[in-house]
Amino acid sequence: AIQIDRMNKWYGTFHVLRDIDLHVAKGERIVIAGPSGSGKSTLIRCVNRLEEHQSGRIVVDGIELTSDIKNIDRVRSEVGMVFQHFNLFPHLTVLENCTLAPIWVRRLPRRKAEETAMRFLEKVRIPEQAGKYPGQLSGGQQQRVAIARSLCMEPRIMLFDEPTSALDPEMIKEVLDTMIELAEDGMTMLCVTHEMGFAQAVADRVIFMDQGQIVEQNTPKEFFENPQSERTKLFLSQIL
Ligand code: ATP
Ligand code: MG
Repeated sequence: AIQIDRMNKWYGTFHVLRDIDLHVAKGERIVIAGPSGSGKSTLIRCVNRLEEHQSGRIVVDGIELTSDIKNIDRVRSEVGMVFQHFNLFPHLTVLENCTLAPIWVRRLPRRKAEETAMRFLEKVRIPEQAGKYPGQLSGGQQQRVAIARSLCMEPRIMLFDEPTSALDPEMIKEVLDTMIELAEDGMTMLCVTHEMGFAQAVADRVIFMDQGQIVEQNTPKEFFENPQSERTKLFLSQIL
């Protein structure tokens, strides 16, 4: 579903991603870990072209992301993204947040979009919040709305960038549970997270990044029990 080959990216003169090779099969769950500034967010933002790469190839569901790409809207509707700070529209209700893009981008009739939105709000277990505004919800509820909102575009791939790191501890679990269910449904997922319990429970592979490179990738079991590089060992000793 995602194929990245020898991809490089610079911010000005700063070489932020170096020779990234990463192939993600349909239905695969990948966790990306690594120290702050290692390029994790930049990498996943390249997958839906919130950031542009300068060399190498990125192919998403058969569409190569190039500088003259024409069907970027198609890529964006196939790739959902959930951020650390939910990024909900504060002046729209939960339901309106969930129907906006389906109505305007996918051109669904309002009734149909609302039906779909309610289905996904039920899935993330907050259908009763549909009429509220984001400011009236807890952080965990807001993040579940953000997940539902992404799912309303019926994406084939979901990207998560530290979806729980802005949440109070008691709300982390409800968001992780939602993500675990999504994984069980067979969604292709690329998750930047420091929740190593989540990685152990659902990841097919853990990718460890440092200084713009993929230093190591392995099954969660091998990654945690038998890390190969010194940088991985150091990282694990700091977070576990
Ligand atoms: P964190 O764990 O703190 O979120 P990260 O691994 O997600 O870190 P990135 O946000 O991808 O790291 O940033 C990688 C590097 O690129 C950092 O050194 C950062 O300062 C730099 N960087 C990020 N965005 C930009 C930008 N728009 N312009 C210039 N440099 C940037
Ligand atoms: Mg980041």
